[in-house]
Amino acid sequence: MPAGRRAFLATCLAAAAGRAVGAPAIATPWPALKPKSARQRVVIVGGGWGGLAAARHLRELAPDLDVVVIERNASFWSGPLSNRWLAGLVDTRYIVHDRAPAAARHGYDLVQAEVTAVDRDRRRVVTGQGTLDYDWLVLGVGIRENFAAWFGDDRATADLVRARHPSAWRSGEALAEIKRKLDGFAGGDLLMNLPPMPYRCPPAPYERAALIGWLLKSRGIKGRLILLDPNPVAPAFRRVFEERYRDQITHVPDARVQSVDPQAKRVVTEFDEYRFDEAILMPPQQAGDLLWQAGLIGRDRDGKPTGWADQDPLHLNARADERIFLVGDALGPTSPLFGHYPKSGHMASRQGRVVAAEIAARAAGVEPPVQLPESVCHVYSDFEPMKLVRIDNRYRVRGDGLIEQTTRQFHDANPRDEDLAWAIASFEELLAFRR
Ligand SMILES: Cc1cc2nc3c(=O)[nH]c(=O)nc-3n(C[C@H](O)[C@H](O)[C@H](O)COP(=O)(O)OP(=O)(O)OC[C@H]3O[C@@H](n4cnc5c(N)ncnc54)[C@H](O)[C@@H]3O)c2cc1C
Repeated sequence: MPAGRRAFLATCLAAAAGRAVGAPAIATPWPALKPKSARQRVVIVGGGWGGLAAARHLRELAPDLDVVVIERNASFWSGPLSNRWLAGLVDTRYIVHDRAPAAARHGYDLVQAEVTAVDRDRRRVVTGQGTLDYDWLVLGVGIRENFAAWFGDDRATADLVRARHPSAWRSGEALAEIKRKLDGFAGGDLLMNLPPMPYRCPPAPYERAALIGWLLKSRGIKGRLILLDPNPVAPAFRRVFEERYRDQITHVPDARVQSVDPQAKRVVTEFDEYRFDEAILMPPQQAGDLLWQAGLIGRDRDGKPTGWADQDPLHLNARADERIFLVGDALGPTSPLFGHYPKSGHMASRQGRVVAAEIAARAAGVEPPVQLPESVCHVYSDFEPMKLVRIDNRYRVRGDGLIEQTTRQFHDANPRDEDLAWAIASFEELLAFRR
């Protein structure tokens, strides 16, 4: 471990230990996690797809900058490949990763802590272990689940649903629980809903539905998946549900969840009511909590929060603060021509690269280049035989300054683990993964 990093981690531990043995509760200001040096510092909150890409590429593009990643969770859980993992089709080592090897290889500091606030006036983030000053801040905090849309202020019921019926859409740690449920499902009604758009990785719930249909059919389980869908379904999935899994999947269109009663195991939509034996529940999604605290959420024409970040579409800095850059699924709409960028890991990592180039240029006092990200997404529409769809999105700035999106889809009826090869390359880039 490099000496600087060793010293930094020692400082964190000392700060944490100091509080644990009874530092006065009124000890403000909280201790600085790391004193500020003459070097400009970039603090990155979130060690996900966007944050880790920003960290790696900043170290390459601007080695003189001090880069610190703050991440609350001990392990990195991958959304990509996770549906395959649920059915035992890929190994756990592709799903759960350690972030430390990438930090050591690329030479940035990694702190495990939750950032509770951004103090934009002081250019400082606050964590449970102390504070950290920044010159540039990258927020790659992902999404939050808006349980208030279902339960209002009733946090106890929200917590119950989060614990009993997780979808693992916000954090992959719940995947193990879902796998246990699927492996133990002996029959009856398994209900899964989709959140309204926009949400993280739109094709992934359909992929999971096809996977569950296949598991029920191949295991000979007398049960069905009720899929409540408020959004238009892609024809490829509709065909699979109707033709291959007619007895296993009931796809219900125009079905937006209004309320959930976890005790009675009942879900109510605008038009109907459904009982379930088991459920995977997905409330509407929004940008992660920290963006709300930092005052970086966009507003619509009526002044209501859009639920998503408000960023400059070309440079990805927050419109309200040029020192803060935003990456990943938390971003708000990019263009009136297509709305949001796809909320994918590939897209988040490309945004991390873009932001690294922006900060490197601005820190050096140079005009930043305009670079646009792209997205590649692999999704299985069936599992026996396997059928893969690859969705590519490319972007360009038009003459009127608007960003335009071109989408191409490739249907592959004879895939060769292309998604696995893509994921391994991504893990090598972001996590110093060794094959
Ligand atoms: C089932 C499923 C399948 C998917 N399949 C694909 C696929 O095939 N291809 C693809 O490209 N994408 C896929 N995705 C989408 C992909 O996982 C997301 O788009 C990606 O994770 C977004 O990256 P992000 O950096 O915005 O957020 P995240 O990866 O969620 O990272 C955010 C990080 O910030 C941390 N954090 C948040 N708040 C704080 C705080 N206050 N303090 C400290 N840390 C904090 C979180 O712990 C988290 O680690 C899939 C997703 C799912 C759920």
